[in-house]
Amino acid sequence: MPEKSFKYVILGGGVAAGYAAREFAKQGVKPGELALISKEAVAPYERPALSKAYLFPEGTARLPGFHVCVGSGGERLLPEWYTEKGISLILSTEIVKADLPSKTLTSAAGESFAYEILIIATGSTVIRLSDFGVQGADAKNIFYLREIDDADKLVEAIKAKKNGKAVVVGGGYIGLELSAALKVNNYDVSMVYPEPWCMPRLFTAGIAAFYEGYYANKGIKIIKGTVAVGFGTNEKGEVKDVKLKDGRVLEADIVVVGVGGKPLTTLFKGQVEEEKGGIKTDAFFKTNLPDVYAVGDVATFPMKLYNEMRRVEHVDHARKSAEQAVKAIFASEQGKAIDEYDYLPYFYSRAFDLSWQFYGDNVGETVLFGDNDPSSSSHKFGSYWIKDGKVVGAFLESGTPDENKAIAKVARAQPPANSLDELAKEGLSFASKI
Ligand code: FAD
Repeated sequence: MPEKSFKYVILGGGVAAGYAAREFAKQGVKPGELALISKEAVAPYERPALSKAYLFPEGTARLPGFHVCVGSGGERLLPEWYTEKGISLILSTEIVKADLPSKTLTSAAGESFAYEILIIATGSTVIRLSDFGVQGADAKNIFYLREIDDADKLVEAIKAKKNGKAVVVGGGYIGLELSAALKVNNYDVSMVYPEPWCMPRLFTAGIAAFYEGYYANKGIKIIKGTVAVGFGTNEKGEVKDVKLKDGRVLEADIVVVGVGGKPLTTLFKGQVEEEKGGIKTDAFFKTNLPDVYAVGDVATFPMKLYNEMRRVEHVDHARKSAEQAVKAIFASEQGKAIDEYDYLPYFYSRAFDLSWQFYGDNVGETVLFGDNDPSSSSHKFGSYWIKDGKVVGAFLESGTPDENKAIAKVARAQPPANSLDELAKEGLSFASKI
């Protein structure tokens, strides 16, 4: 017999879980009906803070300062909030078995939880270099960053190895944000990645050239076109150097690896339909099982705007998909319908005094506009993506709130672009007219 039974269970304690809990409260969930089960020891928080202010030597972010839902301008959901609402916040509890036909979850400690409706919000986990058998990848002071425990260990090492040498493996979001954070902590930083430029999944060569130049001006060494193939250690088992495929060896007191993530779907393998590496849902985040929903990083959902099934690993979608699923659950209980999810992709990042936003789809031809000189004190630049004669994506570095709103509007409206040259010349004013 299950020990505990709930009408609704959210499995996961990250961004999507927190925003789902808030929506449950808004929809009038009754005390005792909802449980949130998380393997983390703390209530849901805004995960992006971990690679930013959490690591800063000054103006440091710490809980309870960044519990959800502050990231989108809402009120913080402190642990007391869950108690007040009668929501069971079940922390430090890893679910190791999900039996969807019998609607039961089992924890590592052997507890079982029954539900009527399940929301899967298990997010992603990091890809580890040890997964590829990289020699020495288990050495001490090689870090990955996903959860607050990881960030705490990194902060400890940053202090212990004060003003030391850091090697950052990977040139994506995590690589760029972590390199900046380590530099701000007065580390001697080298970044290593195999691609011809950083963030190649989103950035064009022109966009990347700005960030690479800016980072170089800050004293960060960028080593491209090669990968880490091994790590040397000292007598304490701590990393001391990074061996690169091209034969170079970089000294290191700390290594941070950010080479990507993978959605945590293993508990549900063979029990729900999957697509494109995630759990397949409809426009209400319902899976092929009537009482099971999946939100955030794990969901592969219909992206209405592009008429395609997609999975999105970004915080804005984690928040919005969670709200959509909970609204859909309550609507269906009341025999009502809600609108389909109609998501406009939105990604952002911040590092040093830089801040960029991107909206839409990064497909087709591109134009670069504005001042993208990394040495310029008034840098502000952007890019448009143009497909089938229409502007479908827009990127902007150092935009004001109004300018960011304007590029979001462009990506949603997809206005025609007659000439790429004109678009490049018009730059931001093109977006401001829409
Ligand atoms: P998560 O927030 O990862 O939450 C998943 C939760 O499920 C975790 O609490 C986990 O412990 C729990 N869980 C998993 N399996 C189990 C289990 N078996 N039992 C119990 N609990 C379980 N996106 C942006 O758009 N901009 C950014 O600047 C940005 N910065 C980021 C910085 C970092 C360091 C990281 C890691 C991510 C960043 N992201 C950013 C991505 C964004 O944070 C994620 O897309 C978002 O957190 C996804 O929300 P989620 O709820 O699906 O997953």
